[in-house]
Amino acid sequence: MKNSKLIIDSLQKLYPKAKCELNHRNNFQLLIAVVLSAQTTDERVNMVTPELFGKYRNAEELSKADLKVVEQIIKPIGLYHSKAVNIIKLSDVLVNKNKGKVPKERKDLEALPGVGRKTANVILSNCFNVPAFAVDTHVSRVSKRLGIADEDDDVNTIEEKLMNYFPEDMWGKLHHQFIFFGRYKCKAVKPDCTDCPLSKICNYLE
Ligand code: SF4
Repeated sequence: MKNSKLIIDSLQKLYPKAKCELNHRNNFQLLIAVVLSAQTTDERVNMVTPELFGKYRNAEELSKADLKVVEQIIKPIGLYHSKAVNIIKLSDVLVNKNKGKVPKERKDLEALPGVGRKTANVILSNCFNVPAFAVDTHVSRVSKRLGIADEDDDVNTIEEKLMNYFPEDMWGKLHHQFIFFGRYKCKAVKPDCTDCPLSKICNYLE
């Protein structure tokens, strides 16, 4: 793909240390944090997880948690009722079907409450080094602006196009770099286009 090298090199220069910004200490905590991050920011999730993970140290403890107590802890992130239900149920499934561990098979991940393809991709890539390209709102927007995806593409199509566009061994790193780029420079509103190394190939400026 004609601009893939330019994009890889530019993002590597801008964000050589891009990584997951959801605070976590193990696979279980990352899975819970990603489920909580739906329709909110990583920053907000990081505000509630210290208390949550301090109180419930593993899947077994969270599976036995009182719904109202969990709701109260995660209230600031929004959608707190369904998220609380999901993370308690999800923990119960982990305990009963996988000895409390996060599964490494996509089908098992996607069968968990509150876990869709995007979350499964984040877990596969971050926890198990399985090549995957998770598409969130930042990745989606940046892909469209850079001409990798079309304006009306859905997330599955965008993911497929990204996987065809970039070499497999770059997917995990690029996923984080796309998020950093979308979060800090190529923002949804008023992107910082000054000195953007990708302005030559950007559709947004046309
Ligand atoms: S020129 Fe602006 S809109 Fe285009 S990729 Fe760069 S930051 Fe994003």
